[in-house]
Amino acid sequence: MIETRGFAVHGTDAKFSPFNFERRDVGPNDILIDIEYCGICHSDIHQVKDEWHDMMPANYPMVPGHEIVGRVTKVGVGVTKFKEGDIAGIGCFVDSCRECPSCTTGNEHYCFKQAAFTYNGTEMDRETPTYGGYSKHYVIDENYAVKVNAEGDLSGVAPLLCAGITTYSPLKKFNVGPGQKVGVVGLGGLGHMAVKIAKAMGADVTVFSTSPGKEADAQKLGASGFIISRDAEAMTAAAGTFNFIIDTVSADHDVNPYIAALGIGGVLAFVGMPGSPNTIHQASLIMGNKVLAGSLIGGIPETQEMLDFCAKHGVTADVELISPDRIEEAYDRTVKSDVRYRFVIDMKNA
Ligand SMILES: [Zn+2]
Ligand SMILES: [Zn+2]
Repeated sequence: MIETRGFAVHGTDAKFSPFNFERRDVGPNDILIDIEYCGICHSDIHQVKDEWHDMMPANYPMVPGHEIVGRVTKVGVGVTKFKEGDIAGIGCFVDSCRECPSCTTGNEHYCFKQAAFTYNGTEMDRETPTYGGYSKHYVIDENYAVKVNAEGDLSGVAPLLCAGITTYSPLKKFNVGPGQKVGVVGLGGLGHMAVKIAKAMGADVTVFSTSPGKEADAQKLGASGFIISRDAEAMTAAAGTFNFIIDTVSADHDVNPYIAALGIGGVLAFVGMPGSPNTIHQASLIMGNKVLAGSLIGGIPETQEMLDFCAKHGVTADVELISPDRIEEAYDRTVKSDVRYRFVIDMKNA
């Protein structure tokens, strides 16, 4: 076994402390990654506080983190994709059944037997707990790691492994590109990635936000339009004009104004998961041939494609780099949406 060190919580109070644990030895198809950066995703906070108890109950001690970038320092004898010194990334899952219709088509995140989550889960043996990226090392099968070809500062690459792929996947699926008007609802960790990626795909991007103070940021990130979603007049003026809207908001909100904002054949895709359901009149879809869609992260092939796309277009997340002793402060600020736009933990110097 490989001795390593991370930062764990031991209960719902979210106080992190150093935690020594072991990773498995590097098997024939495994790589050992020295973690350099790990993003703080809002789902880390939900799981640490056991707020998703019914869906994914918390297992303590918990070492969160599924936006991981680091250097490969050891490879198993059968490894072909990586060599020592390469930069690798790990996202939300680290294994899956490899046999079901989802796994065999590169959609491992929709594995019929449920993928092995990067933390607060188990390996596919359903016994061995998984610990995430708030740690110095990870051992992972090479088929579940992705290659990072980006140059320079890698801290902004880490959030691509969750926030990046979550937004890239629906934008790609619905063929967002030049000549299209794209709306991004919510300018947080996910929203700011959606703006950058949609812009890099060639679309004309508008941000819908409840915060007037974010207009300058939206422009800086690449948006040409900015609509205050509480401004009924502005929303009415926008009706029927969008080809595609990605809704990243996980707080309860009425989605009907966004359906109205779609043009004929337009698509509204959800990546935020509010607690309460919406009421939608079928006519609002039928009368404009509109589509409602949902999307969860992405599979390994698409995550690789997204990383390559972002490297080619120079797209990274805007991050605030912190040392591990500031994780709790970062959690508090993330909950208050007081981050532009992602906290990333510097594990290299931890
Ligand atoms: Zn995440
Ligand atoms: Zn499967």
